[in-house]
Amino acid sequence: MNDYKMTPERCKLLTEMIGECWHDYEPIGDSGWSICTKCCWKVISNLALNHTFTTPDDMHKVFTWLVDKGYHHDIYMYAESIYQKEVSRTVWVAEIFAWLFYDAERFCCIVAIAKEGVI
Ligand SMILES: [Zn+2]
Repeated sequence: MNDYKMTPERCKLLTEMIGECWHDYEPIGDSGWSICTKCCWKVISNLALNHTFTTPDDMHKVFTWLVDKGYHHDIYMYAESIYQKEVSRTVWVAEIFAWLFYDAERFCCIVAIAKEGVI
């Protein structure tokens, strides 16, 4: 099985895909807060800077974006093709469904990889 891990490049790709700012933060002294100097000028805690796409919340943002844009079928078909290659056998829909949605980071990573070709 491949190891589906998010990288900063993939996080930036998905953040911009869902229409959000990939914040370029600068710390505000030693306050524990930073400000985005790129475009949104948002002030945020240093503990919660950009999306990591490793959480259920981030996965849900990506999933709802896919559904809203009508790309959910493309992602499902892409996921099915790579899962079948990995297990080298015919698989049930429920098995693919479980594999795709069990791990938030794996789901987001598959979407990021697909983004370069499918979407
Ligand atoms: Zn920003």
